[in-house]
Amino acid sequence: MQETGPKRALIVTAHPDDSEFSCAGTVAQWSREGWEFHYLICTDGSKGTEDMSIPREELVATRRREQREAASVLGGKEVFFLNYEDGTLTYTPDLLKNIVTHIRRIQPDAVFTHWPDQILRGPRGDNGGFVNHPDHRCAGTVTIDAVYPVARNRPSFPELLDEGLDQFKVKELYLFGASDPNFEVDITEVEELKFQALASHRSQFPEGPERLRGFTERSRDENGHLFEKFLRIEFRF
Ligand SMILES: [Zn+2]
Repeated sequence: MQETGPKRALIVTAHPDDSEFSCAGTVAQWSREGWEFHYLICTDGSKGTEDMSIPREELVATRRREQREAASVLGGKEVFFLNYEDGTLTYTPDLLKNIVTHIRRIQPDAVFTHWPDQILRGPRGDNGGFVNHPDHRCAGTVTIDAVYPVARNRPSFPELLDEGLDQFKVKELYLFGASDPNFEVDITEVEELKFQALASHRSQFPEGPERLRGFTERSRDENGHLFEKFLRIEFRF
């Protein structure tokens, strides 16, 4: 990263905990280097349990608390919640406007979000492929559209101009979960912080956080280095 590079980032995810799996190490590493990370969580996380005895409002409050704790472990700044219902995130003008509003207000140099392109991800067959969650696909698609072209386009949601939210051009987009990443961040120095941030989501790991170690190990290379990988797009105009 260059000294003159971007310094503010917005992470847009579908659920509390998505960013910890995907880019917590990058948040920790780059925060040390002067970056400021803001978070925007699209859904309320209310489907994140199989225990029907937990009241919905209690789970939503717990997940918000856990996300804020995770961000603070990593050195992240503000966390915002859009509060759409978990599991049914849908591409609507309302969702697009909300994300554009946050981009224009925060004015991030870089936006991180889900790679939305495929329903089925990874190797096919019985060796590790899985389904890209519909909320992830939706959040990724709408966020990409918000970055380009809507946030930079004045006639889109012109009422935002009256609120002082003028067009804004994001310089870089980082998509996590991509099948063809072209950019990697060495997070070896901060891997324990990533683990702690993941473990902050206690409601999601009732059996304890230790199995998360196995998840992070999957991206360790033969030299012992741990990476987070992205498909990076730079907007040059
Ligand atoms: Zn998720």
